[in-house]
Amino acid sequence: MAEFVARPIIGLEIHVQLATRTKMFCGCPLEFGAPPNSRVCPVCGGLPGALPVINRQAFEYAVRTALALNCRIAALTKWDRKSYYYPDLPKNYQISQYDLPLGSDGRFEISAAEVGDAAGAESTSTAGTRAVRIRRAHLEEDAGKNTHEGLDHTRVDLNRAGTPLLEIVTEPDLANADETYAFCVELQRLVRHLGVSEADMQKGHMRFEPNVNVAITFEGREYRTPISEIKNLNSFRHVHDAVAYEIRRQVAAWEADRDYTLDKLGKMNFGWDDVRGVTEFQRGKEEAHDYRYFPDPDLTPVTVDDAWLNELRGGLCELPLTRVSRYVEQHGLSRVDADNLAADRASAELFDAAVAAGADGRTLARQFLSFWAAEANRRQGTIAKLGVDPAHMADLARLVHEGLINATTAAGVASMLIERRQSPTVIVEAEGMLQVRDEGAMERWINEAIAANPKAWADAKGIPKKAQAALGFIRGQVMKLSAGKADPRMVGELLEKKLRE
Ligand code: ZN
Ligand code: MN
Repeated sequence: MAEFVARPIIGLEIHVQLATRTKMFCGCPLEFGAPPNSRVCPVCGGLPGALPVINRQAFEYAVRTALALNCRIAALTKWDRKSYYYPDLPKNYQISQYDLPLGSDGRFEISAAEVGDAAGAESTSTAGTRAVRIRRAHLEEDAGKNTHEGLDHTRVDLNRAGTPLLEIVTEPDLANADETYAFCVELQRLVRHLGVSEADMQKGHMRFEPNVNVAITFEGREYRTPISEIKNLNSFRHVHDAVAYEIRRQVAAWEADRDYTLDKLGKMNFGWDDVRGVTEFQRGKEEAHDYRYFPDPDLTPVTVDDAWLNELRGGLCELPLTRVSRYVEQHGLSRVDADNLAADRASAELFDAAVAAGADGRTLARQFLSFWAAEANRRQGTIAKLGVDPAHMADLARLVHEGLINATTAAGVASMLIERRQSPTVIVEAEGMLQVRDEGAMERWINEAIAANPKAWADAKGIPKKAQAALGFIRGQVMKLSAGKADPRMVGELLEKKLRE
C-alpha cells in the first residue's frame, strides 16, 4: 500500500472533585467510605420541593482553578438542568452550566520534556513547555453510584450525589498518548498546589475522557477518522494506553475501509477494558442523548465582581511548572531535581524561604533531596511538616557551602534540628563538630596514621595498582583519628604532598 501520514488529534474532558467539606447544593458532608446512603438529605436525594443553595467555597475553588488555567472568568454565570434518567440521578437532571460556563478560553502549559513527537499539534511552544488551549471550565454536581451485583441486582448509593465537580474541557491540541498523559499529571499537580482538590486517583477524584481521532493524508487528500470518546478513565496509565490503542485501531480501521470517516460515522463512545487492553464500543451517533438543557429556576445566576476576582488572582501561588523552570534557571538544577523539589507546594515554599534567608540554592537543593527528604520519609510526611525554621536550614546549607562542616556532619545536625530549636552554628560549636582545617593538628593525625600503618604507607608509594587503595585506607585512618572532623579535601591534599616528599 502507498504511504500515508497519520496525525492524531486528541482533546480531553476532565472531571475534578473539589475538596469542599460539604456538597455542591446542600450541607451534606463529603466523606469517602461512609455507609451507603448515610450522607443524603432532601436536596441531594432529589425530593420534590427541596431547594438547592450554592456552595460558595466550591465556586471559589472553581474560579481559582480557572484563573490558574488562564481562563476568562464570566462576569455572570448561570445554572442549567441537564436532563437524563438514571437510577443514580434522583432528580432526573444534573445541575450543570451549559452556555455560560464560569471559565473559558484558557491555556495550560505542560512540560515539553515529557512529551514525545509533538509535531503538527495546533498550539504554540515556548522553551521547555507547551501550551494546550482550554475551551471551558464549569461547575456541576456528581451523580450517585450504582453497584451492579450479578445480572438482576443493582444497588444505588447516593452519598456521592451532589458532590461538586469542576469539568475542564481542552481544545484538541494534544498530539499523542505521551503528551495526553503529561497533561493529566500536570493538571493533578496544579489542583493539588491550588489546594482545590486532593486529586486522589484511587478515590476517583479525577476522571478523564479523551476524545481521539486521526487526520490521515493520503494521495493529496485528507481523511478524518470518527471521533472516539473514551469514557470515565481514572488512572493516568489507562489514559495513556487507551489513547495509544485507539490511534492504532482507527488507522487500521481506515486502512481496511476508506469509508471509516468522521463524515460517515460521526462520534462514538467507547469504554476501556484494561484486562484485554482494548477499547469497547458503547454507542454511536444515532443514540446520542438529547439532554434538553434549560436554566434551573431554583438557582439565581452568579455575578462575579472585579474586586473579588482581583483578590483571588492576587492569592494565586506560583504554578508548579513555572517554579520548576525557575529552579532550573536560578539554581542550575536538573529538571528531575527541580521537579522533585517542586512536588510538594509547602516544601517548595520552605525551600524558597531558606534561599531568601541566604542559602546557596544548589547546596540547599542537595540537602533537600538527600537528608531532609530522608527525615521526612522516616516520619511519613513532607519536608515542610518537619517544622524546621527556614533560617536554620539556610544556616546549615551555609556551613556546608563554606566548608565548615562536611555533608555527613550536616545530616547529623539536620536530625538534631527537628528536636532542638537552635541554630546549626550554635549546635556545631557546642558539639565541637566544626571541621578542622588547622594544619598542625592535621599533620599530627597524618603522622600518627602513617606510623601505625607502615605497610599501607609503603604500598601507597608503590605500584599504582595497589597505591590507590592504600592511600584511601590511610585517609580513612586520618578521618577516624580526627573523629570525622578533619576537612577531607585538605587531608587528601596534605597526603599527596607527603607522598611527593
Ligand atoms: Zn444533601
Ligand atoms: Mn460533566
